[in-house]
Amino acid sequence: MAIAERDGTDVRRPRMFIGGEWVESGTGKTFSVDTPAKRGKVVAEVPRGNAEDVDRAVRAAHAAFPAWRAVAPRDRGRLLLRIAEDVEAQVDDLARTLATETGNAIRTQARPEAKSVADVFRYFGGLGGELKGETIPLGEAYLSYTRREPLGVVAAIVPWNVPILIAAWKIAPALVAGNTVVLKPSANAPLAVLELAKICEAHLPKGVLNVVTGTGEEIGTPLAEHPLVAKISFTGHTETGKAVLRKAADRLVPVTLELGGKSPQILFPDAGDERTVDGVIAAMRFARQGQSCTAGSRLFLHATVYDKFLDALAGKLATFKVGDPLDEANDMGAIVSGQQFEKVTGYIGDGMKQQGARAVVGGMPPKDGPLAEGYYVEPTVIANVRPDWRVAREEIFGPVLVAIPWSDEADVVRLANETHYGLAAYVWTRDIGKALRTAHAIDAGWVQVNQGLGQLVGQPYGGVKQSGIGRENSLEGMLESYTQRKSVTVNLIF
Ligand code: NDP
Repeated sequence: MAIAERDGTDVRRPRMFIGGEWVESGTGKTFSVDTPAKRGKVVAEVPRGNAEDVDRAVRAAHAAFPAWRAVAPRDRGRLLLRIAEDVEAQVDDLARTLATETGNAIRTQARPEAKSVADVFRYFGGLGGELKGETIPLGEAYLSYTRREPLGVVAAIVPWNVPILIAAWKIAPALVAGNTVVLKPSANAPLAVLELAKICEAHLPKGVLNVVTGTGEEIGTPLAEHPLVAKISFTGHTETGKAVLRKAADRLVPVTLELGGKSPQILFPDAGDERTVDGVIAAMRFARQGQSCTAGSRLFLHATVYDKFLDALAGKLATFKVGDPLDEANDMGAIVSGQQFEKVTGYIGDGMKQQGARAVVGGMPPKDGPLAEGYYVEPTVIANVRPDWRVAREEIFGPVLVAIPWSDEADVVRLANETHYGLAAYVWTRDIGKALRTAHAIDAGWVQVNQGLGQLVGQPYGGVKQSGIGRENSLEGMLESYTQRKSVTVNLIF
């Protein structure tokens, strides 16, 4: 990509995107992006922006807003459709960058993520005509109607685990609704987001989309505080989300929050055979090193099938190929950073210290050999876990599944709901009554029965309890998150 000049050491030096220009930070400072595939290997030096850069970007977005909102919605949509085509043409470049910076395996994760970004732009590109209002029946003497109006400058703050897909979930609906955007990618994974911005640049007027790079404190905080930001859409940790919400409260700015999870998988005895194994693995997002907000990381296994199912699960996971994310043969790559690696292995160590805990597969990562060269953790399943242990309560955000036995339906639903999270859930049974009873009783924004898929665009997506506020990735999400209704009432007998 042209945004990244390469020097003799093959380190990329992209710039950030403000007001339609590719710029350094005001201070000229940069930060390093490493690849998790090899400890300490720097792959890019990226501008380290600060509050002044945020201010420049927000002002550029604010200046671009009046002209952008005046573009007819279907014409805004057409531009998104062109972006979708260009993303599709560049899927392989995006996938390589994603795999390099995030550690996500190219075949199973990075390429599918890049393809999904095209789907998201295409979906929202077709929604321009849905920004409809209503007429209100006040009587023959009046015409009263509502308009869906954009909010203004949207601050979009995204994490590193699926960086361009989550960026697209915010950019595409915000833009088609007539808002302008300032986006902050995670300092762990800014490169593919900048490449996506490069693709968008060819189709959008200057200032409509801006990307400011830097740390959470130096960029995220001033962005959340900026007086010209009219809406914040944040995806990340629950605690960071609360901090953003506090900032927004000071200015009464609306906020969409997509936060953490500790999602349950409830497996009934009739589903305790090998056919369910692949689904449980998919729901746990092992192929993304478990680094997914919707990871079904608490497996409630019925006691009658507990040992047999765990044997089958361990057998399948032992065949998983873990290694270089750029190698097409690998199923699973590396944990995103040294900091996350320490956190994940800390949880494994803590879980394994508990009385009776048993790793049926995986465990602490190898100390030597090729996997020790990067931040690799093998798929890990810990059995005989009690619901009150830390590994069963806290979001690990790593490839660590805990298995908890159960025997009473009401009891397992209670255990599944005994968490402050409520993002996703998975129910495994061929008994439709049990499946739907359980799906309705679980506190979660999204319950899947007999499948463990990722989000498909069009389904309203978001969490309950401390997993978030609001819905996105859908028509309803676009209307609720990125427009506001205005009522206009006309007296016809004046
Ligand atoms: P963080 O909350 O650490 O970071 C998210 C984003 O916020 C990053 O861009 C980060 O910047 C930025 N940030 C950090 N501190 C602040 C601050 N004080 N003010 C404003 N912005 C800030 O989350 P992670 O990136 O580690 O992502 C993992 C978390 O995201 C998990 O909890 C996961 O469950 C959740 N998540 C939720 C999803 C959902 O749809 N519900 C989807 C995907 C992930 P920087 O990284 O540069 O510090």
